[in-house]
Amino acid sequence: MQIEDVELAGFVKITSKDALLVIDMQNDFLPGGALPVADGDQIIPGINNLTDRFHQTENPIVFTQDWHPIGHHSFASTHPGKNPYDPLEAQGIGPVLWPDHCVQGTHGANFVPGLQAAKATLILRKGFHKSIDSYSAFLENDRTTETGLATFLQTLGIERVFICGLALDYCVYFTAIDAKEFGFDVVVVLDQTKAVNTPEGSVSNTLKNMTEKKIIFITSDKILG
Ligand SMILES: [Zn+2]
Repeated sequence: MQIEDVELAGFVKITSKDALLVIDMQNDFLPGGALPVADGDQIIPGINNLTDRFHQTENPIVFTQDWHPIGHHSFASTHPGKNPYDPLEAQGIGPVLWPDHCVQGTHGANFVPGLQAAKATLILRKGFHKSIDSYSAFLENDRTTETGLATFLQTLGIERVFICGLALDYCVYFTAIDAKEFGFDVVVVLDQTKAVNTPEGSVSNTLKNMTEKKIIFITSDKILG
């Protein structure tokens, strides 16, 4: 399944029970960064438009940051003899190893220039446990450690989340799947996300899984404030 094959929803109106999740819009994930996502920079204006739309109606806006300590176990450099993008499956890590990226307090971990982070209701940092990665904004990769986001959103009465950002086949995907597991309706804003597609086929597999889980796909021009 490819992006062109995804069935898109029609117009949707934002209500008071909706939140926007902006996933990992950080320097290291842009072209020129440590773990670049192709065309990641092209979605900045569209994400700013979405942020404006949710901000105008005072809906919750959550920005996430991948936020790793030096020597994080998801980094190939932590494993002797391993290179970035080599396969490695371990508890809380994998399916591949990554270049060093989004190290806490570095330029690479900062939000991308021009992003309207000042309009975020919550900035949620994830991946700060050295031996566990966290692709999802809800659950770390051991699949048991919660980030607290589900409770935060539930406390605010949120029932549906709109998800955009980077990367479609990793952090957006796992966030979407977990949001559904926590009982939220989930809308992925397909034109405001870009994929890594490593290993090859990950876009196709993740789109298929999201479709099976009844996750809705939409383009940002169909979201009405
Ligand atoms: Zn990471």
